[in-house]
Amino acid sequence: MSEKATQPKIASREVTTHILKAFGLRMSKKLGQNFLIDAGIVQGIVDAAQIEPGDRVLEIGPGIGTLTQGLAEAGADVTAVELDKKLPAVLAETLKGYDNVRIVPGDILKVNIPEIMGDAPFKVAANLPYYITTPILMALLERHLPITHMVTMVQKEVALRMVAQPGGKDYGALSVAVQYYTEPEIVLDVPPRSFIPAPEVDSVVIACKVRETPAVTVQSEKMFFRVVKAAFGQRRKTLANALKGGGLPKEQVRDAMEQAGIDPTRRGETLSLAEFAKLADAFSAMPQ
Ligand code: SAM
Repeated sequence: MSEKATQPKIASREVTTHILKAFGLRMSKKLGQNFLIDAGIVQGIVDAAQIEPGDRVLEIGPGIGTLTQGLAEAGADVTAVELDKKLPAVLAETLKGYDNVRIVPGDILKVNIPEIMGDAPFKVAANLPYYITTPILMALLERHLPITHMVTMVQKEVALRMVAQPGGKDYGALSVAVQYYTEPEIVLDVPPRSFIPAPEVDSVVIACKVRETPAVTVQSEKMFFRVVKAAFGQRRKTLANALKGGGLPKEQVRDAMEQAGIDPTRRGETLSLAEFAKLADAFSAMPQ
């Protein structure tokens, strides 16, 4: 029998506790370490990412290898970036026998992803460290990497913002960015007891299928996100005032809104992606 087939599933309370003890590991709150102990959830992430043998997968924060093992078992070629310097030595042991896993020590916000993943399409799967969920998601989306699917475990409250529609309190710059680049769908509710230690918040697995072309066409992506950021920067103000306060040329705001057919007394949180696109294009057409 190959060594791989004899490896116990890490995703259980017993095995995880055993590994933590054996390596004398103390979990770091600062690094957002909450390790999964539910094999059903690991499988849920693997299924949501529609992993096929040979798929290239970037995992963020493998921890002690819980999700990594599930991905490797499904036949993925996994590249896992881990910031905690203590963990690569642990992973070398817990994932011994999987020749389809590569651990890259480092900070996901600093590593050169094209350098480690190359040009071919890949998927992202991760139980994210919650203290930097938004920066990680934004970095992955904005860089136009050849990602096809992004399946991540995030705080429920963040996922609700990612899928929010115009008009509600959850709708904001993150909703627009995620929906501009992807089609997000919440696929699993995950209670705190699925982790060691149990986090104080509820979690969900959210699957984001990356669109081949963004949801709306804009002349300048930079202007689109500038407008979006300004619109949500001061949520209590009318859109016209929020745009002025957010650094768009004051003298252009009224004209741009008129050209885009948007009532200046509306609030940013009521605009659809298509309306943001129209507004951004109106600004783009004006002298910079
Ligand atoms: N994948 C494991 C699991 O599901 O049990 C661990 C998930 S734990 C929520 C998040 C992991 O991300 C930890 O292993 C932590 O050390 C790692 N991490 C934190 N910040 C990171 C960063 N900036 N870059 C890469 N990994 C990071």
